[in-house]
Amino acid sequence: MLVTGGAGYIGSIMTNILLDNNHDVVVVDRVKNSSVEVNNKAKFHQLDILNTAELVELLASEQPTAVIHFAGLISMEESTRKPELYFKVNTTGSLSLLTAMLNTGTNNLIFSSSAGVYGDTDTVPITELAAKRPTNPYGESKLMVEAMLAWFWRTKHLASLALRYYNPAGASLDGSLGENHKPETHIIPLALKAAKEGTEFKLYGSDYDTADGSCVRDYIHVVDLCQAHLMALDSLISQARHDTYNIGTGKGWSNKEVIDTVKKVTRKELSVKIEARRPGDAAELIADPTKIKQALGWKPTHSDLEEIIRSAWEYANQGRSLHEVEGGTLR
Ligand code: NAD
Repeated sequence: MLVTGGAGYIGSIMTNILLDNNHDVVVVDRVKNSSVEVNNKAKFHQLDILNTAELVELLASEQPTAVIHFAGLISMEESTRKPELYFKVNTTGSLSLLTAMLNTGTNNLIFSSSAGVYGDTDTVPITELAAKRPTNPYGESKLMVEAMLAWFWRTKHLASLALRYYNPAGASLDGSLGENHKPETHIIPLALKAAKEGTEFKLYGSDYDTADGSCVRDYIHVVDLCQAHLMALDSLISQARHDTYNIGTGKGWSNKEVIDTVKKVTRKELSVKIEARRPGDAAELIADPTKIKQALGWKPTHSDLEEIIRSAWEYANQGRSLHEVEGGTLR
């Protein structure tokens, strides 16, 4: 298996789970991180997915059965300030990977898409057929890749499954690998950090059209998410096709409920400052996961909000830092 973005949050946990399931793994990322070197069982190649020639060389020599494509930029808010960067890395970067796959006859791809492709929807829970009206360039950059994947299947028989993640959160089950984006924009790690350090937590928007006025999201434990990838890989390899699946639980939690659960788990006070809405945030994103449950038999088993937050809290207290900098160089 070739994992792009394997030095990141989800990619590093996925790499370890693939290794535990006896897959040979080659990791590609533009930065190194300690977790990949610590497990030391995956081959690591430091390269930028925008470099098609290097990808062709790597795919030709490794000949992976499938590619799991996590590499990309992930902040919806940042994408509203730097749309050119998001279309370049997420869309052009994916096109570069697809081109290299075509050139080397690499035929199976699992793509990290996002619930951001839907934007503000008229009905929740959201099925895969709902209208796609992204509210930020990030969501649009993912939707454009999905469109390419559908065409690459129809015209070239490059098989792919696009998995539309809702809100991945939590850590590996041993608490050693978890979420630590730079900068972090996700509520659970930010609220845990504020609780741990006794600093103020900023809640963006309390005037949404939701039951308590804060945004509602569908949180999926990262281990359940990785399990869905394993099942998607098996399914795609046995039945070549292009398809899209939501990956969520079907249950939504408001930001205020997240804050209450963070207080409960950490047993700490959290000082909350209400700020204006953040650009690009949809009010409510809740998956209808029926399709993946029926097609793959997947179901989440770790995704109760309290279990997710306990797992993220364990990582916050004992996990290694991703993208650790040592002596000025990334290791
Ligand atoms: P992350 O930032 O932790 O990991 C992404 C990795 O991609 C990083 O290690 C980064 O160095 C690498 N990368 C970025 N640009 C690259 C390039 N040009 N060439 C090579 N490597 C590059 O993010 P994550 O949370 O692990 O997300 C993984 C994927 O899942 C992303 O595609 C993201 O859009 C998607 N996703 C994430 C979430 C979430 O909440 N974390 C939600 C929906 C979708």
